[in-house]
Amino acid sequence: MKIMINGINAGLRFSSAHIIPVHTSCGFIHGHSYFVDVEIEGDRFGDYEFVADFKDVKNSVRTICKKLDHRVLIPINNKNMKFKELTAFEKSENDEFDSSDNSKKSETENSSNDSSNDFLDNSDLSVLDFYNKDYVEFTIKNKDYKFPMEDCILLPLKHSSAEDLSQYFANIIFEDLKEKEYKIDSVAVCVNEGIGQGAFFKKE
Ligand SMILES: [Zn+2]
Repeated sequence: MKIMINGINAGLRFSSAHIIPVHTSCGFIHGHSYFVDVEIEGDRFGDYEFVADFKDVKNSVRTICKKLDHRVLIPINNKNMKFKELTAFEKSENDEFDSSDNSKKSETENSSNDSSNDFLDNSDLSVLDFYNKDYVEFTIKNKDYKFPMEDCILLPLKHSSAEDLSQYFANIIFEDLKEKEYKIDSVAVCVNEGIGQGAFFKKE
């Protein structure tokens, strides 16, 4: 059986700013009022024979919406976003970056372009790599951005598109409901960028 929640009617929404790096029109920072539709398929279960209690589903969605609401969405694994190097102090606390310590490199390596050492390889950055920083700084082509960290939400995604966001929501809601021991087969999420366009992802 399937249950459905319509985001615009149920108040599952958030408003955020984002950038789709190097895209001709969406490469400029701009915002959307998003709403999130959810469909859940599974077996009816428990005393009430629910697929999942609507309240549990809405709580899960709202928790994510609340994290993203009134923030700049930063997809830390986007290959066109070059994040500024972490400070030496932060790097020393993070084993992952020991091997790419640029201060050592610049002494031992030659003449390679110094400016390329100012940025991290972000293909496998995690949100924790930014822990305790006050600002997030990055470059997209010739544009430099610096935001207070508290204004941003860092996402372990390649893009902050509706496509990636629907996947992000579906994965988290799926795990939340599994933890509550519902007999869920799939969680499908449509993240709508306003009315009339959205991306739909089904996690099975
Ligand atoms: Zn957009």
